[in-house]
Amino acid sequence: MALVLGTRPELVKLAPVIRLLGPAAHLVHTGQHYDTDLSGRFLTELGLPDPTLLEGVGGKPRAVQISAALTQLDALFADEPPLAVVVQGDTNASLAGALAANARGIPLVHVEAGLRSHDRAMPEEHNRVVIDQLGDVLCAATEDNRDLLRAEGVPAGRVAVTGNTVVEAVHEHLPSAAVRAELLAAHGVTADRYLLATVHRPENTDDPAALRAILTELAALAADDLPVLFAVHPRTKARLEAAGLGRLLAALTELPPLGYGEFLALARHAAVIVSDSGGVQEETTVLGRPLVVVRRSTERPEAMDAGFAELVAPGRAIGRAVRRRLGEGEAGLRRLASAPSPFGDGLASQRIVALLGALGSGARPGHTP
Ligand code: UDP
Repeated sequence: MALVLGTRPELVKLAPVIRLLGPAAHLVHTGQHYDTDLSGRFLTELGLPDPTLLEGVGGKPRAVQISAALTQLDALFADEPPLAVVVQGDTNASLAGALAANARGIPLVHVEAGLRSHDRAMPEEHNRVVIDQLGDVLCAATEDNRDLLRAEGVPAGRVAVTGNTVVEAVHEHLPSAAVRAELLAAHGVTADRYLLATVHRPENTDDPAALRAILTELAALAADDLPVLFAVHPRTKARLEAAGLGRLLAALTELPPLGYGEFLALARHAAVIVSDSGGVQEETTVLGRPLVVVRRSTERPEAMDAGFAELVAPGRAIGRAVRRRLGEGEAGLRRLASAPSPFGDGLASQRIVALLGALGSGARPGHTP
């Protein structure tokens, strides 16, 4: 099996599948985000095998990323056609993997199929739609995701509702209570008395007004005696400096991108998380913590519907939403801690590996020629 990936969330969410596959898993990393903070240390921490690393992809415009990865994947698959190609999510790496599988007639499995923001300004939305049209086995995380695929005319036989592998990723990598206590102490924060923030989407980072509005709100919250731990993505750091907004970081506790276990530990005890991340919307439902999502749209409404998250625009709405959550106090946190995650039961990777096994035996479940 070839698993084609290129970014941090793909490593996180495919890790449970890769571990179950064992030596049958061949990782191909396109290099979309290949640096120590965003990939290298995740491979080690998640216990993943060394990937085949493609060249000339990272930092390039979208079309170049897709075409450079596609050309190299095609050469790899021509040499040694895998039994199936597995891609996850909606990145340029996933799309390149899907196109390469399609070009060579190799069965394509899409993990986390059927997410839709209906926001055509997001390149990821286009990636998702194309990958789902090409996929032979679509692993939908939720029944709503399956229904969205069906509404686009995808035959029922190509879709399986598996749950999202992020649930088991969180269970496998959340550090023990004792280690979490040490990590909180090392960051100088007390459980339930700090905010955790991440921002990295272009709609927020590439618009200096949006970036300024987000950081100004976070700084105002920090001034209310609520430490704000801000794990700064390299893109955000670069944009902050380019826009001359670096001084806004002074009120926050600036952290580098964190390892997965450390990030989960800090998220597990944050009073509220503020983020524009996709994966964090799912993880907070497993950790049972409130989340303020700073985005125009989301492809994961389940987290909102289940009461874990709310969507706000950059600016005052962030502070209002955070303060509302803080006002719910311990009762609010207890309610979320006991609410089930809408994203699955922790068995998604086992279901996906079973589907892959059926492909390996030549049965190709759900394949529609
Ligand atoms: N994450 C991490 N360290 C950090 C920030 C995020 O390990 O400092 C993890 C987070 O828990 C989630 C993944 O990275 O699993 C999300 O990645 P990102 O936000 O880059 O991508 P998205 O999910 O928005 O596509």
